[in-house]
Amino acid sequence: MSSREYLHKLYLLQDLDLLLQQVEDPEYTAKTGLEINEERIELIKQRRDELARELQKADPITYEMYEKLKKRYGRGITRVVDDMCTNCFVALPSSMMKTEDRIETCPNCGIILIWLD
Ligand SMILES: [Zn+2]
Repeated sequence: MSSREYLHKLYLLQDLDLLLQQVEDPEYTAKTGLEINEERIELIKQRRDELARELQKADPITYEMYEKLKKRYGRGITRVVDDMCTNCFVALPSSMMKTEDRIETCPNCGIILIWLD
């Protein structure tokens, strides 16, 4: 798996993690009035677990880093917007260019970075 593919899949995993967190929060369902189909949630959970296993197998070090960061910050990967880390809002050094060849982390907070258009 290329770094680019890995980062995109990790970003999807986080999206699913945040989504599951949201639908399992009774305050959210009460506030939105949404009726969430339990079977569909199960499908999403299965998809999440498959993806997690795939990512863990492909790069266990990055996967573990993601899990640790998620515990600390609530997320493990974040987008770069206007050359800023959107977890800690520090300006990234100009030497850190958009890259898809390797996995980059923020020099200030350590979160995994992804450049999306
Ligand atoms: Zn940061």
